[in-house]
Amino acid sequence: MIRIAVNGAAGRMGGHVLRAVEQEPETEVVSALEAPGHPRLGETAAIGVQIGADLGAALANADVAIDFTLPAGSMPLVAAAAEQKVALVIGTTGFTPEEESRIEAAARAVPIVRAANFSLGVNVMLEVVAELASRLPDYHTEIVELHHAAKVDAPSGTALRLSDAIAASRGLDPKRSRVTAREGQTGARPRDVIGIQSLRAGDSAGEHTVLFAGPGERLEITHRALSRDNFAAGAVRAARWVVGRPPGLYSMRNVLSTSSAPAPDRTGAA
Ligand code: NAD
Repeated sequence: MIRIAVNGAAGRMGGHVLRAVEQEPETEVVSALEAPGHPRLGETAAIGVQIGADLGAALANADVAIDFTLPAGSMPLVAAAAEQKVALVIGTTGFTPEEESRIEAAARAVPIVRAANFSLGVNVMLEVVAELASRLPDYHTEIVELHHAAKVDAPSGTALRLSDAIAASRGLDPKRSRVTAREGQTGARPRDVIGIQSLRAGDSAGEHTVLFAGPGERLEITHRALSRDNFAAGAVRAARWVVGRPPGLYSMRNVLSTSSAPAPDRTGAA
C-alpha cells in the first residue's frame, strides 16, 4: 500500500485527489494538509485522517506527498520532503525561476514528478504540437487558454509547457519567442513568436487550443478538461510511479513512457 499525504486538501484539486487516492486499491491517504489557520483544519479528509497544518507530522508516515496548492504552499513542503526523504508529486503552477531552482535542488535528495498538467490527453498533445511545429515551420503559432475565474496565475502552466514544446521543436528561445499580451501599435506579427492569450471566465477546468496558421489554411488542436478527475487520476498514477525511484526531477512523460499503461478508464486519464 502506498501511503499518500495530500497538500491543499480543502482545495478544488485537493478534493479530487483525496477521492482518487481512496478509489485506487493500492493507495491510502495518511495525512491531509492545509494552510495554517485554514477554516477547515480539523475536518475529516479521509477515514481516520483530519486536515492538519503540521508538515513534519504529515510526512512522517507518508511515502509520497501530492501537492496542488500555491507556490507559497508548495515550497515549505518541498523543503520538508527533501529533509524527510519523502517523494513528491507537484501539480501547482506559477513558480518563480528561483522557486523552480529550489525544486530542482530538492530533486537531488528525493524523486519528484512535476507536471503543469497531469491529464493523458494534454501530455499526448504536447508531443503532437511539437511534431506539428516542426512539420509546419513557417506557420504562425498561437495558443489560447481558458480557465475558471478563480485561477490566480496566467498564462496557465500548460500553455507555457505547450509554448516551450513548440519553441524547442523549432530551435527558438522559449522565453524570448513568447508573447503574452498585445495592445496598441504592435506592428506586424514577426514569424518566430508564439502568442499566448489567457481567458478567465466561469468554471472551466481548463481548455487549450494551439493554432497553426499558414497561407489559406489553419490547423487547430484543442484539449478540453471536462472535470478535474483526469488531473487527479494522473497525479495518483505519478505518485504510484515515483515511490522508490532514484532522486531526480521527472515529468509526466517519464511516468507515461515507463509505467505499464492500463487501458484508459472512464475519465480517459488512466
Ligand atoms: P484551490 O485554490 O482550489 O486550492 C488550493 C488549496 O491550497 C487551497 O485550499 C489553499 O488553502 C491551499 N493552500 C494555500 N496555501 C497553503 C499552504 N501553505 N499549505 C497547504 N495548503 C495551502 O486551487 P486549485 O484549483 O485546486 O489549484 C491548485 C494549483 O494546482 C494551482 O496552481 C493550479 O494551477 C494547479 N493545477 C494543476 C493541475 C495539473 O494537472 N498539474 C490541474 C489543475 C490545477
